Amino acid sequence: MIISKLPQVGTTIFTRMSQLAVATGALNLSQGFPDFDGPQALREAVGRHIAAGHNQYAPMTGLPALREQVAAKIARSYGCSVDADSEVTITPGATQAIFCAIQALVNPGDEVIVFDPCYDSYEPSVELAGGRCVHVPLTLPGFAIDWQRLGDALSDRTRLVILNSPHNPSGALISAAELDRLATLIRERDIYLISDEVYEHLVFDGVGHASVLAHEELYQRAFVVSSFGKTYHVTGWKTGYVVAPPVLSAELRKVHQYVSFCGVTPLQWALADFMAEHPEHVEELPAFYQAKRDLFCDLLKDSRFTFVRAAGSYFQLVDYSSIRPDLDDLAMAEWLTREHGVAAIPVSVFYQQPPKDLRLVRLCFAKREETLAQAAEKLCAV
Ligand code: PMP
Ligand code: GLN
Repeated sequence: MIISKLPQVGTTIFTRMSQLAVATGALNLSQGFPDFDGPQALREAVGRHIAAGHNQYAPMTGLPALREQVAAKIARSYGCSVDADSEVTITPGATQAIFCAIQALVNPGDEVIVFDPCYDSYEPSVELAGGRCVHVPLTLPGFAIDWQRLGDALSDRTRLVILNSPHNPSGALISAAELDRLATLIRERDIYLISDEVYEHLVFDGVGHASVLAHEELYQRAFVVSSFGKTYHVTGWKTGYVVAPPVLSAELRKVHQYVSFCGVTPLQWALADFMAEHPEHVEELPAFYQAKRDLFCDLLKDSRFTFVRAAGSYFQLVDYSSIRPDLDDLAMAEWLTREHGVAAIPVSVFYQQPPKDLRLVRLCFAKREETLAQAAEKLCAV
């Protein structure tokens, strides 16, 4: 008999809603991925490297050329220097990076602070390590850290805090001042951080991303995670990285080498080439995605949904209280998909205990202009 290690876990909401979108022919604004391709030069580089015979295992920690590009990008973006050899590890996706960091740090009985709504992979990863998540809800409507509740949630067993900025699903940002406050709160304690920054370059309205990489004190105890999938519009490549001080990177690599050993070789070569040749790509991303956010939000102005424009990420939350207050958000997401042809993600699934009367769904705006226009037309008719 199988004794499930994850008895509560079913199929993720992303898979379920994407399947429903396909089955019903709805526009899929649910699972987060672009409906356009990554840069042509990047895609062509993969073919070139496959043809050139770059098809065997990459080094366990990642291709040196790619690790150096990551370090160079970090220096340009955040003005801080990390060592490509001892602090950067390339992984098959950010999800795997987060999983490995959790396995490296969390021992049975340890507590891990997560902020609800939180990304769905964190809790199962903590449970597989024998730890327990302590859920601290973000305050509504702005999805900010509740410092009182965070302080109350810390205990002698707290081993890890997982941050996510820009935040999925709300797009909210953690500010540099909040990082300072967190540093003060955990200074005297043996607590580590995972900072999930996969949307690091999707920050709008001229606000800079406050990376934990740029926070000298917090970085000393942090794993900072990012994803090439988000930054280069290639989510299906499942290629990401972790940056952490040498001692933490060494522990992470002990796990990573037995979970997957290394990332996919030709993809790493292609990313290294593209990053070297097109450093402007990341600089152009905020404006690229802000234009999509603004187009979508402008088109939704005449709808009955209400919303505050997302500060970051490629997700827009919309409140449907004035449309179908009778439906919970899962029912609403299904109704929108089946009856109005637009698939969305309910927000309550990101909570341990969703707030009563939560009437929010998440829409992904990483889509071509035509898709956004078609979706907005359907949503305005709701
Ligand atoms: N963290 C967050 C907050 C995400 O939204 C995603 C996107 N799937 C990931 C991690 C995982 O990224 P990857 O696809 O590189 O595993
Ligand atoms: N991160 C994506 C989202 O939030 C989903 C990735 C996945 O399907 N696991 O929609």
